[in-house]
Amino acid sequence: MRGAARGLLIALVCLHAGWGADWRRMRSTNFDLYTDVGKERAAEVLAKLELARQHFRGWGLPPLPVRVVLFGDEKQFAPLRSDAAIKGFFQSGAERDSIVLLDSGEGTLRGAAHEYVHLVLHHSAGKLPRWQEEGIAEFHSTLRADGEIRTGELIASHLGILQQERHLTAARMAAAARGDVTSIGGREVPIFYAQSWALIHALHAAGGEDAQRYLMPPFAAIGEEKLRRLVDQMPAYLRRPMTGWTTGERAAAPGAIEEETVPQQRAALVVIDVALRVGSVRYARALLGSAAAAYPEDPELLHEAGMLALASRDDAGAREKFTRAVRSKDASAQSFFELALLERDALGPKAGRVRELLSETVKRNPQHAEAMYLLGQMEESQGRPAKAVEWLERAVKVLPRQSRMWYALALARHDEGQVMASRAAAQQALATAETTPEKEQAEAALELIQGALTIPRPTVEAKKPAQRVPEAWKQAKGDAVVRGELRELVCGKGVAARIRLWVAGTWQELTLDDQTRTTGKAMQLQCGMQRPALSVEISYEAKSRRAVSIEFR
Ligand SMILES: [Zn+2]
Repeated sequence: MRGAARGLLIALVCLHAGWGADWRRMRSTNFDLYTDVGKERAAEVLAKLELARQHFRGWGLPPLPVRVVLFGDEKQFAPLRSDAAIKGFFQSGAERDSIVLLDSGEGTLRGAAHEYVHLVLHHSAGKLPRWQEEGIAEFHSTLRADGEIRTGELIASHLGILQQERHLTAARMAAAARGDVTSIGGREVPIFYAQSWALIHALHAAGGEDAQRYLMPPFAAIGEEKLRRLVDQMPAYLRRPMTGWTTGERAAAPGAIEEETVPQQRAALVVIDVALRVGSVRYARALLGSAAAAYPEDPELLHEAGMLALASRDDAGAREKFTRAVRSKDASAQSFFELALLERDALGPKAGRVRELLSETVKRNPQHAEAMYLLGQMEESQGRPAKAVEWLERAVKVLPRQSRMWYALALARHDEGQVMASRAAAQQALATAETTPEKEQAEAALELIQGALTIPRPTVEAKKPAQRVPEAWKQAKGDAVVRGELRELVCGKGVAARIRLWVAGTWQELTLDDQTRTTGKAMQLQCGMQRPALSVEISYEAKSRRAVSIEFR
């Protein structure tokens, strides 16, 4: 039924003689916007995004170019959205990020800030529960400059919904899986957004450590236990909510905006690009015809035609289009990348031609994480883990939420002998896993690395003869002993402290607890690196790797 509705919209769009007639491209300092709305409106959206960029710069700046597509005509926007209630969305891509908005009056500027928050979180934070991320985006959607920059102002429509509607339980909120609000019912969606907003609002108002931990980088995910408490406290908070926050910072003076009119076929290419990213293949195909006639050899047109061929499973057709596209000096990094993927399927992952195309991709777009990921895998498979680590570290910097990239990095670091760093990457792989195979992969990597941490035979000594055991160990001794340099004390909230030892050229790690005794030179350890490193002999339980007693020598 949805397919039929979409077909009808396409027919309307095609019959609409005026499609794209009045499109314009407007560029502010950091954003590139295409639109069919009036230029004052478009300039407001650009100003809002520049303000958001300024305000959130501490959270990270967008690593990729950002393209904004602002629709005035709902008929043109409708085939791009997954639900009739959606008025805007953020769409990531290897080449650029896109913010797509329908100009819907009041809500448009809030929508721009909301989607910008998604963009920044996408590049800077690990996976967050859906409600937490939506709440943070909604909270900051009111961002505005009134002399000083203000944020977190009350949103009347959300308050209205929360007054009238039955609130969702914590379990219901948590059930809305990442990226898929539809797992809660249609009527529940506005309540979900309003409530996510209110929960984050209350957390901001409470301030303190929690606000720091959950609402600021690096954004700890809020667990279900905590969510339950927040849901319980929300009604009381809503009786007297904070009315907003002033940041104490003034908005930067607006920069110049460049403006040009865009021929309708060129505007069609911009919309096709979004349509293919969101899977609206029929819409893309319907738009491609007139553009193809206007720019038969244009690299952008050839690229989109190649993408459309791929979406129709026509690999040969796609290869032909991308091959033609990359002959142009204006070819985009993404055309090289798509061709690399096709050649990889045809020639195998180690082919020189594939490396050439991937290298060209990164040359044209140094932030192309997917290309860096594949280059890293190539290096790894060809026995060059150090080079692999270099590529993969760059890739996860751009896309920190990709479990497969962290996993590849964990293996490469492991092969390079960076045991601790490898484990950190494997933990990230687990934290960002979205699918069962990703989770299993990450767990397997952790296991492998755990194996690497096991003490190599020669450095393990059997229980020492009784006369050599220091006095204090008599009641407290483990079943293994290790001697080495204590180089670091790793402390973290809510987790056991660990010591990192340098033993015969490798790292080893043991946990501490309040039962751990110390003997020898009296020492008070500070968290962090120990300078100079301390010579120690540690008795520990081999199975749990818990330090029982530390002798400072
Ligand atoms: Zn959102």
